Amino acid sequence: MATINYDRLQGKLNILADAAKYDVSCSSSAGTRKNQGGGLGDASATGICHSYTEDGRCVSLLKILLTNHCIYDCAYCTSRKSNDTPRAAFTVEEVVDLTMQFYRRNYIEGLFLSSGIFKSGDYTMERLVEVAKILRTRERFNGYIHLKTIPGASKELLLEAGLYADRLSVNIEIPTKSGLALLAPEKSHDELKAPMETVKEEIITIRESRKTHKKAPKFTPAGQTSQMIVGASNETDLQVIQLSSHFYKQYDLKRVYYSGYVPMLSDNRLPAIGTPVPMVRENRLYQADWLMRFYGFGAHEIVEPDSPFLDLDCDPKLAWAIRHREHFPVNIQTASYEMIVRIPGIGTRTARKIIKARKFNQLTLEHLKKMGAAVNRAKYFIATTGKNEHLSHLTRNNFRQYVLAQTQTKYKDQRSGQMALF
Ligand code: SF4
Repeated sequence: MATINYDRLQGKLNILADAAKYDVSCSSSAGTRKNQGGGLGDASATGICHSYTEDGRCVSLLKILLTNHCIYDCAYCTSRKSNDTPRAAFTVEEVVDLTMQFYRRNYIEGLFLSSGIFKSGDYTMERLVEVAKILRTRERFNGYIHLKTIPGASKELLLEAGLYADRLSVNIEIPTKSGLALLAPEKSHDELKAPMETVKEEIITIRESRKTHKKAPKFTPAGQTSQMIVGASNETDLQVIQLSSHFYKQYDLKRVYYSGYVPMLSDNRLPAIGTPVPMVRENRLYQADWLMRFYGFGAHEIVEPDSPFLDLDCDPKLAWAIRHREHFPVNIQTASYEMIVRIPGIGTRTARKIIKARKFNQLTLEHLKKMGAAVNRAKYFIATTGKNEHLSHLTRNNFRQYVLAQTQTKYKDQRSGQMALF
């Protein structure tokens, strides 16, 4: 094994950790691996990344690029070949060494490894797989590993990567085909979706074989994810949400991440430098995504074609309820669980409590408050025992304005500005 020069390594780390920060697809939840004895660490079922910034970015993985050299020229990327930026590349052994050192010192709980493309997709992917393989087999590393798949890499390398990584991600980057063609002409949606299909099929195959052969190897047990950049092209939220919905249904993705474009590069195809980062939009997309995954909303309900952007003034569930007053007020004594979770201010846990508690009680707003409902929002959408005086003075014309004025949404004050991280 070659000796590692730590001064040089620090310089590379500065460049390659900085270059990796724009990839947000690094949540590590749902990875489980027990320490078999003699190995180092383990990954827990609740996820090894316990620290998240408020906008969903995970902060406890060693998150680096193998290299920021790249043969591609994607307009939105600081690593693109035409960008005049300091370049660096780790060797495979350097990434292994860094990961083990950081892990032993408890700085990190896993590795998120992505890369620019040097030489070819296969040449780069081979090195990412090699890092994961050495960590698992030689170093007996049981922490979390998330590998980004490299466009153009072969199916064989993808399948090998999934044997060592907890999670794989395939970043679609730009939500529309036309936007991708404009900003990253070397890529195409079809080419980027092919690895998603491969990973999905292998997950199903391995899951089936593990039913009869318990010792069959695991394959990317925390599943696959993707990332979309919003605000770099002129996509609508409707297109973004529809694509996410397609990914969840078609490829069984665990998560789609949304990254508000940070204008740092001068290019007439992109928003000008200094254009505000669309952080509120990014947050609304995460909320909309949550509604699809946990609240039974279809993409077509969250954003409708005649108004294809999310309402930035309120969260998508409240916006849907305001648009669809015909479904309200909901009688919480008799309504289905599916309808109760659609009431603004009532989450899935509170909805389950309501279903249990209403067997024994006529529920009031006070009861709902104790169960965890945000009554300041819910009170405009429910029918409880007795008269709901909050509804009496509301009309079709004043409803939206009144409810928004009375509802303190978390991001209301950040409507036009940058959202604070902490
Ligand atoms: S292929 Fe990846 S690293 Fe290279 S320019 Fe495009 S987005 Fe950046």
